[in-house]
Amino acid sequence: MSKDKVAPRYAAKCGWNALLPRRTPREQAPNERRFYAIVVGAGYTGLGAARRLAELMPEKEILVLESSEIGEGSSARNSGFLSVNPVQPRANSHGSADDDAIRKVRIVVAGLDWLRTIVKENNIDCDWDEKAPRVTAAATPEGEILARRTKNSLERWTIKCAEHDAGDLEQLLGTNYYLYGYEPLTRALVQPAALIRGIADTLPANVTLLEKTPVEAVSGSGPFHVQTRRGDFSADKVFIANNAHARALGFVTNRMIGVYTYGALTPVLDDDELARFGKLPAWGVIPKSKAGTTMRKVQRRFLIRSSASYERETDPQKVRSILTQLFRNRYPKMHSYEFEHVWGGLTAITSNGENYFGELKPGLYASVGCQGAGVCRAMIHGKLLAEFACGSQSSLLADRLTLEAPNWIPPEPFRGIGALTRMSYMRWRAGRDY
Ligand SMILES: Cc1cc2nc3c(=O)[nH]c(=O)nc-3n(C[C@H](O)[C@H](O)[C@H](O)COP(=O)(O)OP(=O)(O)OC[C@H]3O[C@@H](n4cnc5c(N)ncnc54)[C@H](O)[C@@H]3O)c2cc1C
Repeated sequence: MSKDKVAPRYAAKCGWNALLPRRTPREQAPNERRFYAIVVGAGYTGLGAARRLAELMPEKEILVLESSEIGEGSSARNSGFLSVNPVQPRANSHGSADDDAIRKVRIVVAGLDWLRTIVKENNIDCDWDEKAPRVTAAATPEGEILARRTKNSLERWTIKCAEHDAGDLEQLLGTNYYLYGYEPLTRALVQPAALIRGIADTLPANVTLLEKTPVEAVSGSGPFHVQTRRGDFSADKVFIANNAHARALGFVTNRMIGVYTYGALTPVLDDDELARFGKLPAWGVIPKSKAGTTMRKVQRRFLIRSSASYERETDPQKVRSILTQLFRNRYPKMHSYEFEHVWGGLTAITSNGENYFGELKPGLYASVGCQGAGVCRAMIHGKLLAEFACGSQSSLLADRLTLEAPNWIPPEPFRGIGALTRMSYMRWRAGRDY
């Protein structure tokens, strides 16, 4: 990857961020060039790591370098579902698939709990909502069978769920598009740009955040040299938390791919249009199928998230037309299908769903590979990575260390062929859930 690709550059601004008051990014480079630790990337993983490091080492100085500005990365571009379902549980040398799932649930629930604590303690205004229904819904008979099975598994793994039949869903959502849904009762919905801004703007005093400063290279070994266009910095420890773009710095190159997915928000809707989305002021729908469509009724607007592209962002006009069609399919009687904001965001996908987590070499740590349902997961992985680097011990960290690493994936052109084939297959299997 060339130097201008060390960090994501998006075609459009993040819609959630555009709804918030202007925030001035922190661009003033510090005079100090030597830090105890440098964190690359200020998403949930990076800010989780920086926050925890600062708590564990209050006398040490930590620098966080962010290529973009807070509110414009994927941590703000997502749909704002804080979900706790475990990703792809499987048997491993530490136990059965159920053991793996229960450990993963404990880890993500700890992420949700930590986020809730940070939001409460710092009065972060991010529309934190644990009451609005958040339903995983299926629009096909095949999806319904899978959804019922997943609901039973979640309950076995300690996540209580409510169920909704087609009639319930029509009442709730105002569309008869879906056949069945389950609602995990441990979850939250947020305004994601407000959440990540709040986390960034309440970091402990021994953390310096420098935005609009892409890291171009990391070299050396204790001290490490971190090269940016605002000059070089050095540190005893470096934390790689820039997800798919870790590859551009030469880290975790053969274990993840980059996939863009797309969101859109309507303008504020009038009472008549809003009534078409059911009576409740807010709800969220996640598709049962991985290649399906997410929806939210939020702040008198409608949000839709869908579609995926391999390593490259799709043309914004094309995205707008795809999302409009998906909106129309679900709500055929709207007066308008206008979107005020349409945007893309990058996630990393690994073939077995696992994150890379650990020490790449002495003093150099990484937690990357965080995909779709990644907010709680990224946040807690950042925290656990800081604890791991400081030699702390906890049952949660022990749980994390039992999880597998992402599988090796072949280089191009096989990687691209494999990814595109799988994405087309998943899109086909999603059927009406797309
Ligand atoms: C449209 C969309 C919808 C989604 N919906 C949901 C959802 O509803 N719920 C959910 O849980 N997850 C969702 N996700 C996934 C979620 O956003 C990610 O899993 C999460 O953001 C991962 O956090 P992270 O901190 O690991 O990575 P990121 O959020 O990607 O943060 C990495 C940061 O590193 C920065 N960076 C990159 N390269 C460099 C560099 N060279 N130097 C310095 N900084 C760099 C980036 O700008 C970025 O800010 C969605 C994602 C998208 C795109």
